[in-house]
Amino acid sequence: MGGLKVKDIFIDPSDFKPRDLVVPNPFPREQEVWMVRFTPEDFKAFWFQEQTAIQFVPCSERGPNRDIRKQSGDTLLPLHITIPGTNGRPKIYDWSFRFQCRRHGPPRPLAIDRPSIGIGCPVEIRMKKPVGMDAVLVDYRWQHSHDLSAQTLSNMPMGANERSWIKLKVAEGSDWKGIRAMLRMDENSMSEVQYRFYVIMLY
Ligand SMILES: [Zn+2]
Repeated sequence: MGGLKVKDIFIDPSDFKPRDLVVPNPFPREQEVWMVRFTPEDFKAFWFQEQTAIQFVPCSERGPNRDIRKQSGDTLLPLHITIPGTNGRPKIYDWSFRFQCRRHGPPRPLAIDRPSIGIGCPVEIRMKKPVGMDAVLVDYRWQHSHDLSAQTLSNMPMGANERSWIKLKVAEGSDWKGIRAMLRMDENSMSEVQYRFYVIMLY
């Protein structure tokens, strides 16, 4: 196993590139749920591109891997070691994670003039690593119930990846002008970025 790390699942702000115009991966879209088996390297590339192009939010997981995203990005994901002579149900997966489209929640009426983030979008991706297999299995319900245009996105508040990225740039000493230069967004997103910037500077 190439050894997938925490940052291969939960994108590291320093790897995030808001300036790039990233498109979702091409893949066969005949089935409602696309099921695929990746090599670890191919999975890494696929998921990096997909979560840069589309705003996903992690679903909370039960079990021992629940707090894994709080660990440093370079932490290796756990691999199960069977201790000879132990009984009990054998473990099937070393780890599994589930993400949903950021817009999965129910619609909520907002006082301000912008669409609700929640729109009941069914998009969900589950990734799991079978014990003893050098592969990642992915089930991807990929069909959004809304459009994914930059225009629509720009009317919504920034996602977690964008916010963490700005935080990182501030920590690295970038000022507002510098951050603005690194971004390529329309005016709506721009004011949101500016707002976030000041919030980060203040607290
Ligand atoms: Zn969606």
